[in-house]
Amino acid sequence: MQRQDKMKILAKQFGDMKKNPDMKAFFPNKNNPFIWHVSFKGPQDSPFQGGIYHCEINLADYPEDRVRLQLLHENGSYKVNSPLCIIGITTSTGWTPGTTIESVISALSVLMDVPYGREGLGYIFETNKEDILRLVPISQSYVCAKCGADHSTLFK
Ligand SMILES: [Zn+2]
Repeated sequence: MQRQDKMKILAKQFGDMKKNPDMKAFFPNKNNPFIWHVSFKGPQDSPFQGGIYHCEINLADYPEDRVRLQLLHENGSYKVNSPLCIIGITTSTGWTPGTTIESVISALSVLMDVPYGREGLGYIFETNKEDILRLVPISQSYVCAKCGADHSTLFK
């Protein structure tokens, strides 16, 4: 796919995400439109509820192929600054071209609260509810030094 066509798709995805009240995208590097940072709300009815989490998504191969994801601050579920392995999202096997970035972030959010039966890299295997709850208020005032996202004013 031509870079120009990829850019059109990314611009549409960015526009769509703007309408979603549960997530917001940022650009940490003005010269690289394929690296996004996204802040998203923790899943409802889980220990993460009320938390706001910040991830980096690498869209260099998108939309034909999988994305790469990592969380940028302590959260109690995903390891920090470590590539996540989510079948069909961060793996070419199972990837469906046309998967939206919003649905990638939604899957990332939902999977935070799946403490058992995890496989692969990037997870904290023994999640601890006290740690998660301790980190929720910290996540609400997180500021990203790279993109400037400020969780204390986001989603207000
Ligand atoms: Zn950021």
